[in-house]
Amino acid sequence: MTMDTAELTRLDRAHLIHPYLPGDAAERVIMASGSGCRLTDTEGRGYLDATGGLWLAQVGHGRTELADVAHAQMSKLEYFTSFWEFSNERAIELAARLAALAPDPLNHVYFTSGGSEGNEAAIKMARYHHHRRGESSRTWILARSKAYHGIGYGGGSATGFPLYHEGFAPMMPHVSHLTPPWPYRTDLYGGEDPTDFLIRELEERIAEIGPENIAAMIGEPIMGVGGMLVPPADYWPRVREVLDRHGILLIFDEVVTAYGRMGEWFAAQHFGVTPDIIVTAKGITSGYVPLGALLVGDHVAETLLRDHGFPMGYTYNGHPVATAVATANLDIIEKEGMLARATERGAFLHAELEAHLGDLPIVGEIRSVGMMLAVELVQDRTTRTPLPLHPDRMPHDVIRRETGVIVRDSAHSLVMSPPLVMTESEAKEVATALRGVLERTAPTGE
Ligand code: PLP
Repeated sequence: MTMDTAELTRLDRAHLIHPYLPGDAAERVIMASGSGCRLTDTEGRGYLDATGGLWLAQVGHGRTELADVAHAQMSKLEYFTSFWEFSNERAIELAARLAALAPDPLNHVYFTSGGSEGNEAAIKMARYHHHRRGESSRTWILARSKAYHGIGYGGGSATGFPLYHEGFAPMMPHVSHLTPPWPYRTDLYGGEDPTDFLIRELEERIAEIGPENIAAMIGEPIMGVGGMLVPPADYWPRVREVLDRHGILLIFDEVVTAYGRMGEWFAAQHFGVTPDIIVTAKGITSGYVPLGALLVGDHVAETLLRDHGFPMGYTYNGHPVATAVATANLDIIEKEGMLARATERGAFLHAELEAHLGDLPIVGEIRSVGMMLAVELVQDRTTRTPLPLHPDRMPHDVIRRETGVIVRDSAHSLVMSPPLVMTESEAKEVATALRGVLERTAPTGE
């Protein structure tokens, strides 16, 4: 059955619930194929993917070698459970590979089907770890405003945007949000050094709640949905030191930052901090099939695995096809030197953005680490007042319609997380497209 775009659009509007799209929205962009950073819709229009889908297409679109791996594994063993004593070759291979890549002592792996499931598991692991050690009072989770930890009730409660809570209450109790590290927004810290402010706030919050009641702090090493907020270099080491002093676990939500996006396998390595649990997903398969993986420290795994083991399992834990594709994806990242490439191409794209946008009065800051980039938009560079956003004239929509370049907006910033294979000429194309639209955008956002 081949349908034309008009019919597909009609059926889409009649039957498909899209996240974050109003029911009366008429426009659909129906993607049909992809290769590298390029996508083509059902009308034959071309797009340049500067968001890597949703921050994940590390090795780029259209890698038929990954399709071949999925086909071979599906033909041999499509699925069997990993509950109890059952296992499969592909899950074992990938777990051993991840344990070797991750910093010590993160030697244990728990698979999920994505990032939200991963954060649910991490929060439960933290509470259960303390419970098994006889510290059942440790139930509180520290998180930050502007954090995004997915849409489960645990991770969703740790998420720090009102939009994700309003109308879904009651959220999970015992979650406390701290100020995010966002050095550009100096007003958040009242003139104080951002890290000094944030560490003092953390210490005060721990004292208020009582360290004996706190299980873990969860944080994205760089806050993605919050607008690619890059913390000062001393932030995570100092947070780790405070948490260690109080027996509080540190969970890194590396759903976006892992697997090369920052030029390292994990952001933990970039910041020189070893958390107790790392939650990953997205880039582990570059999006070819759904998969997530938690990397768990020996000390946490040891308590989880006592007695009857960890009483929480997903049907798709260690799915053979997903884990086979992930291993092949990591092979590509390694063989094609994508960690170094992320650093080099990210720096190139950053320089292009500076060259094309740096003089525009509505461009407040351009920031990046590897292939995570943001252009923060302001009304006025001196006051740093955020640029007002008009729902019918969002800069990222205008850029896509006019130029075919796909970027996202996130908290008044245009954010980019391109496939790590983006070429220099594609990077120039992104910067030129942004310039064309932003130079026509007034400080009122019109
Ligand atoms: N954590 C972070 C940092 C994310 O950016 C996301 C998704 O964007 C998630 C968790 C949720 O992952 P998923 O959408 O795979 O459930």
